[in-house]
Amino acid sequence: MVYLVEHFYSIQGEGKFIGTPSIFFRFGGCNLKCPSFGEYFIKGKKLFGCDSVRAVNRKLFEEEWQRVEESQTLVDILDEHLKNLDFKPHIVLTGGEPLLYWSDEVFYSFVEYLVNEGFIVTIETNATIKIDFAKFPAYKDAVFAMAVKLSNSGEPYEKRVNKEAIRAIVENTHYSFFKFTLGRGIIEFSAYDEIVDIVGDYPEVEVFCMPLGDRIDILRKNDKVVAEFCMLYGFIYSDRLQVRLWNRERMR
Ligand code: SF4
Repeated sequence: MVYLVEHFYSIQGEGKFIGTPSIFFRFGGCNLKCPSFGEYFIKGKKLFGCDSVRAVNRKLFEEEWQRVEESQTLVDILDEHLKNLDFKPHIVLTGGEPLLYWSDEVFYSFVEYLVNEGFIVTIETNATIKIDFAKFPAYKDAVFAMAVKLSNSGEPYEKRVNKEAIRAIVENTHYSFFKFTLGRGIIEFSAYDEIVDIVGDYPEVEVFCMPLGDRIDILRKNDKVVAEFCMLYGFIYSDRLQVRLWNRERMR
């Protein structure tokens, strides 16, 4: 059983596949809260966390969480989106933290179906949950966008960095990449050292850095400083195209 919060067709706004037409499946639940990423007033309450708050806070958004008992339900949703397309779009499995469901039959069968059908599948993860790739080999054919959280997330190091989980992903997948979210504060303070601590063992893995900001005004405050940081250290700048194009619109 998995919880699906939303599904939509858009373009990938971040990381390696930026600009690529993609169908998104957003799954509910996360093992982190990232309280320093932003604040929101929703349903009369002040919430702290990331822009995926709907997929993290089940109590408040329960009515938006669809319980899915069979992988065929996810395939049917996919087919509905595909009806309007005459090409194979990129598929993004995101959250929350989709790997909460890594050993769930519904989730794994869906991943298996997607890779067997020849879709490029990106799993957007915080890379804190270790997968058994030997028992669940279809994951080897997925791309993992490892958005490992830094100290600016407000999470303690032991919770947000799991080097064994990262190693399992890097060693078992054909292509995966790191993606970090940076603002001015952490760049001045500790971003480089924190990133090297996480990626230092994997010089072959691409590192994308993107500006903090789920609103265009916040994004603009951070974008140039992140670009300059990338130029200084040889990382790859990633914009957040969905924010640049649609600001805070949902399902974009
Ligand atoms: S890990 Fe990702 S989805 Fe979970 S709270 Fe942090 S930013 Fe949000």
